[in-house]
Amino acid sequence: MIKINFEDFTRMLERIENTNSQNEMASILSSLFKDISTEEIDKVCYLALGRIAPQYEDIVLGLSEKTAQAAISLASGSSKSEVKEETRDIGDIGEVASKMIKNRENPFKDYFDYTGELSVKNIFDGLRKIASTSGKGSQEIKTKTLASMLIEADDIGRKYIARLAEGTMRLGVGDITILNALSVAFFGSKLRKTELEHAYNISSDIGLVAKVLQTDGIKGVNELKITLNRPIKSMLAQRVSNFEDIKNKIKSRDISAEEKFDGERIQVHKDGENVKLYSRRLTDVTSQFPDLVENIRKYVKVKRVILDGEAMAYDFENDLFGSFQILMRRRRKYDVKEYRKKIPIRYMLFDVLYVDGESFLNRNYPERRDKLETLVEESKYIALANRRVSSDLDAIDEFFQECITKNLEGIVCKSCAKDSYYRAGGRDWTWIKWKKEYISKLSDTLDLAIIGAYAGRGRRSGTYGALLCAAYNYAEDTFETVSKLGTGFSDEQLANMPEELADARIDKIPARAVVTKEMEPDFWFTPKYVVEVLGSEITRSPVHTCNWKEEQKQGLALRFPRFIRWREEKSPEQATTTEEIVQMYKGQ
Ligand code: AMP
Repeated sequence: MIKINFEDFTRMLERIENTNSQNEMASILSSLFKDISTEEIDKVCYLALGRIAPQYEDIVLGLSEKTAQAAISLASGSSKSEVKEETRDIGDIGEVASKMIKNRENPFKDYFDYTGELSVKNIFDGLRKIASTSGKGSQEIKTKTLASMLIEADDIGRKYIARLAEGTMRLGVGDITILNALSVAFFGSKLRKTELEHAYNISSDIGLVAKVLQTDGIKGVNELKITLNRPIKSMLAQRVSNFEDIKNKIKSRDISAEEKFDGERIQVHKDGENVKLYSRRLTDVTSQFPDLVENIRKYVKVKRVILDGEAMAYDFENDLFGSFQILMRRRRKYDVKEYRKKIPIRYMLFDVLYVDGESFLNRNYPERRDKLETLVEESKYIALANRRVSSDLDAIDEFFQECITKNLEGIVCKSCAKDSYYRAGGRDWTWIKWKKEYISKLSDTLDLAIIGAYAGRGRRSGTYGALLCAAYNYAEDTFETVSKLGTGFSDEQLANMPEELADARIDKIPARAVVTKEMEPDFWFTPKYVVEVLGSEITRSPVHTCNWKEEQKQGLALRFPRFIRWREEKSPEQATTTEEIVQMYKGQ
């Protein structure tokens, strides 16, 4: 197995950057995976995604622009203001580094040490050092380490190092592309992607899956076990257009309708006194909810466990759930203590995935729910989702109405069948959501990824007039447009939009986006932000690419779209899928 030299690696990154085809990206990556050292295969996966660790680990780059500029200034010998000016002209920090820094004697060798040829591992280690240095004097260490790395690399290497350090590397490679590339590299085709994806869904660590595949083969991958402190991808719910369809889709005689909470999905990992909390995007949110950590220690009676549930803002005086918007104010790094008092939370549990060394993913729902009831001492801070189990749809509807009167979002209907397993990362007909919006005439809401914006005119000049929104095509790993969204925003939301979306701005069409000429926007965004949109119906459209049919030159579009809210907790890959939109279209 060879060590990959950094120069070759960056040439490959350039080829990836210059293609829009997922197949080609996978093929470039797979040629790299074929003969790579065990020490580097995981690092290549993370770096291709613009990261240096799995998402759930709290090790992220993302130096401020100022720090990155300071490092370029040190590495090039130019003044900070010259670097600032170049950044203003060029825009991309990678291009600035590549243009301004020339080969020269490195005065910062002490900060970034390696011997011989620069390898992927050297660069990865340097970036990890930058991310993990903290405390007094850390700024200087970060800047000089980065400056040293930039001097040692060549022009193209500098481009990628600077982007990685600033957290702005956007190759357009998705997780699925990497899994496809691994399958092609090791088995000659995409056929084994499903097994790799399963391992990824239960470990959330693509580097680990790659490494195990290389060392122990597919057998090792299939034997990967769920582990505490490694989040499991959340199971998601399907949707139907008619209430009666719930009964047709859920095959078991009994249906369990649970209260549906509109808060933040939180997966709890309790390992004795050590408690970790993960969001639906698989980020570690433990530090945001110290109250929940304490309550888990106090009210969960088992030593080692993984639980699934929803954190809700709660007004304890009046016994009322607060809205999602209120809860979002707890999303903060600072003033956590103050906000814990201001916005207390209640954690509503609905599943258990692991208990004392044993996985519960392959137990059916009734067994998991029974187990869950034995694990927790219910209190005002932690409780189980209320539910009604019945084979009669009228009874389920009655429960739904009760939930609506309690100001909940709706219900999640769960199958009680023998095979009602927990499908990590899957959207399955064993869970079906039914929300109050569905019963109004303007029926469905969609969660869409923003990939572009149109310049505003008149009252909206200086900000965006409308956003170009896309659904996620899971099978292709692409983003297909379905809506141009220009209504429903408050003046304040409109005014803030350019700033809020700034870190996703790119200067060309994002790699995985599919857009017709007619819909080309004035600004492009890498898929990062998700909006919830209400519409009246799904119609055929010659300008939107969702479920595009080449023969008819038609896709699907959402009519009369209206902004409802930002969905910060959703990643773009968790947007409404093309497949779901097709179902909504058929069910109308
Ligand atoms: P949506 O976000 O509209 O796709 O609805 C699915 C989400 O509902 C899940 O990801 C959970 O965060 C949330 N949810 C709330 N209550 C429940 C419940 N009782 N069972 C499952 N999911 C729930």
